[in-house]
Amino acid sequence: MATTDMTPSREFDLSGGRLCLDFANTVSMRDVKPRERLAAYADLVAFARATGAVDEPLARRLLGEARRRPADADDVLRQAIALREALFRIFLARAEGQEPAPADEALLSAALSTALAHRRLARHGEGYALGWDDTTAALDAPLWPIVESAAALLTSGELERVRVCSLHESQECSWLFLDQTRARTRRWCSMKDCGNVAKARRHHARAKEAGDG
Ligand SMILES: [Zn+2]
Repeated sequence: MATTDMTPSREFDLSGGRLCLDFANTVSMRDVKPRERLAAYADLVAFARATGAVDEPLARRLLGEARRRPADADDVLRQAIALREALFRIFLARAEGQEPAPADEALLSAALSTALAHRRLARHGEGYALGWDDTTAALDAPLWPIVESAAALLTSGELERVRVCSLHESQECSWLFLDQTRARTRRWCSMKDCGNVAKARRHHARAKEAGDG
């Protein structure tokens, strides 16, 4: 794995509505021809930076740490991908009215225990805020807010609004999102991509039917 390749951050599509769902969406075409967005540890840092899970100074320190300890950074990347796949399976199961696998729930629960050990109380203006321990530049720091986001979503009333893109039926898209429409009618991860593909296809099918008929 090209952990030391510190290429500038590529853009991530953040249409999931929650950090943990955007994280699950860091692979495209999962069922057919997977396109991996987390190919290197630097990609994980870029994702965390793009979503605000880590701030700029911490991101820079993490990249420096990864250059010094490339094997450890690769381990964290593998850990991140295992976590992402477990999150995907858990939320997909819930979106489809199925029971998530106990092994995936156990993985997430263990990750939550690790993450919460790094929770810190911080002064924030006149009051206090919950922060993360950023003094050690631990390589797995980008995972902590993701894990917390997943636990928060699973324990919230919003869990029933988690959906998988409608193009999942044809294995063309497996992105997850939170349906925040009042009528709960959102069907595609993005109207711009999958929504338009589906619309064009329906139009084509109708035109063909009219032509054949
Ligand atoms: Zn989609």
